[in-house]
Amino acid sequence: MDELLRMEHVSKRFGDFYANRDINLSVRKGEVHTLLGENGAGKSTLMNVLIGLYQPTEGKIFLNGKEVRIDSPAQAVKLGIGMVHQEFMLIPGFTVTENIKVGREISTPNLASRLFGKSMETLDTKAMRKDAKKALKTIGLQIEDYVKVAGLPVGYMQFIEIARELDKTGIRILVFDEPTAVLTESEADRLLEAMRVISSQGIAIIFITHRLDEVMAVADGMTILRDGEFVARKEIKDTNVVEIAELMIGRKVE
Ligand code: ADP
Ligand code: MG
Repeated sequence: MDELLRMEHVSKRFGDFYANRDINLSVRKGEVHTLLGENGAGKSTLMNVLIGLYQPTEGKIFLNGKEVRIDSPAQAVKLGIGMVHQEFMLIPGFTVTENIKVGREISTPNLASRLFGKSMETLDTKAMRKDAKKALKTIGLQIEDYVKVAGLPVGYMQFIEIARELDKTGIRILVFDEPTAVLTESEADRLLEAMRVISSQGIAIIFITHRLDEVMAVADGMTILRDGEFVARKEIKDTNVVEIAELMIGRKVE
């Protein structure tokens, strides 16, 4: 199988408390994989290990079958692992394009930069706008790239975050931690649609949500955690909402 990511026997301990204990996670290239579990099950902790924010207490991570060490968020970015944050990661006074390209500006040398260094280079606004428009088009967000993000609806902000991740070269895995919690229903629908487009380009998506209707609508596979431990990994086509709910809470539901 076309396995892109494998987290193997991952544990994360805070003091005496195991937020993750011996967890396995396997995600294919181009798969929308949902990570499920009740509040406190350990989902965000596992993703923070993946994006290099936490070091695992035990366990290994493999990308395309090769073991990797992710000892910082910068290293995760280098490996092509991105995370969509909430709207407050954007800079309100910057335009859509400026937010998408922040930290990855395209610039060209000039006399000043030859004398004083790269920070004096001229910004290539045209190239930056072209990249930004391409990323916005991929996710189907209809917005002018030159408007400032201050005051835009939350759903737009989130799409700009996604565009920024997509614009990074070599993105292979994109993590969404409860992205629809802050969205209206129609914004959430558009986000699910964007996830399908992104995954069809071969990018793996790890999608954390509490809404099982979203799981059934968009996910290919799922991993369920309970009390910090691995419970099950299944293909969505081989399961149903009742079984998922039972696996999440650990007992029969009526
Ligand atoms: P989920 O995202 O599934 O709701 P989390 O991964 O956020 O769960 O948390 C799992 C458990 O680990 C919770 O009991 C939480 O209180 C605990 N936890 C998370 N982060 C820390 C931390 N930095 N220090 C101590 N305990 C933590
Ligand atoms: Mg969480």
